[in-house]
Amino acid sequence: MIYDSHSHTEFSSDSDMKATDAVQAADRLGIGLVFTEHYDFDYVESPHYKDMDFVFDPQKYWRQYEPLRGNKLLLGVELGLTPGSIEANKRFIKQVPFDQVIGSIHAINKLDIYYPDYYENKTKREAYACYLKNMADMVKANPYIDILGHIDYICRYAPYEDKEIDYTDLHDLVDLVIMNVLDTGTVMELNTRRLDSKTVAEALLPIYRRYRELGGEYIAIGSDAHKVENLGMNFPMAIDLAEFLGLKPVYFRERRIEYT
Ligand SMILES: [Zn+2]
Ligand SMILES: [Zn+2]
Repeated sequence: MIYDSHSHTEFSSDSDMKATDAVQAADRLGIGLVFTEHYDFDYVESPHYKDMDFVFDPQKYWRQYEPLRGNKLLLGVELGLTPGSIEANKRFIKQVPFDQVIGSIHAINKLDIYYPDYYENKTKREAYACYLKNMADMVKANPYIDILGHIDYICRYAPYEDKEIDYTDLHDLVDLVIMNVLDTGTVMELNTRRLDSKTVAEALLPIYRRYRELGGEYIAIGSDAHKVENLGMNFPMAIDLAEFLGLKPVYFRERRIEYT
């Protein structure tokens, strides 16, 4: 069974999705689910902290969802990776037996990539190079993560007309991210949120092709759904892409790789 390995319920500050609704929707779609709630330890120092906090109580999460956990639902976390959160993240994931840990870059130098402040006074190349260098460093500094989340996160929010990562221009840094992913035994995610466009798929192709070329074998396919209707979104495209590239879709149970 294919798993949607990236989803957020109401334990994530930016989601209202109810766990039971998510499980029902996944059942209808014939897919399994991994909940991966946000834990962004450093976010409290962001200027945007007043609206959101992006942390949750792992014991409460476990108490509430453990009864739902089983063959079709696993319980994970999405850690925001920053230089200041390495120890906090390590401590956090020891608190309950998470099935799967995604590591993601959401903020750099206390600036959330979601907001325009990150892009101020930067060219697109500078903004993207700084993002990728930081990602490569954070993967190396957090070798315990199972999956590197959404390499194309910046393309969601960047204010440029062409938002895609230009592999030809940034290949050194993309390769560095990939090499650190492979060196640490991490699996790359194919985030499906933006995969409804051919332009996006074409821009991502050289990145994932390079991952395969350098020795990548596995891919975690995740929607990053914050709403029931987005669960499993664009999965046919992602599955085709994975097959085309020769990457095997996986997810994690009890921190061990599982093949779909
Ligand atoms: Zn994320
Ligand atoms: Zn997410």
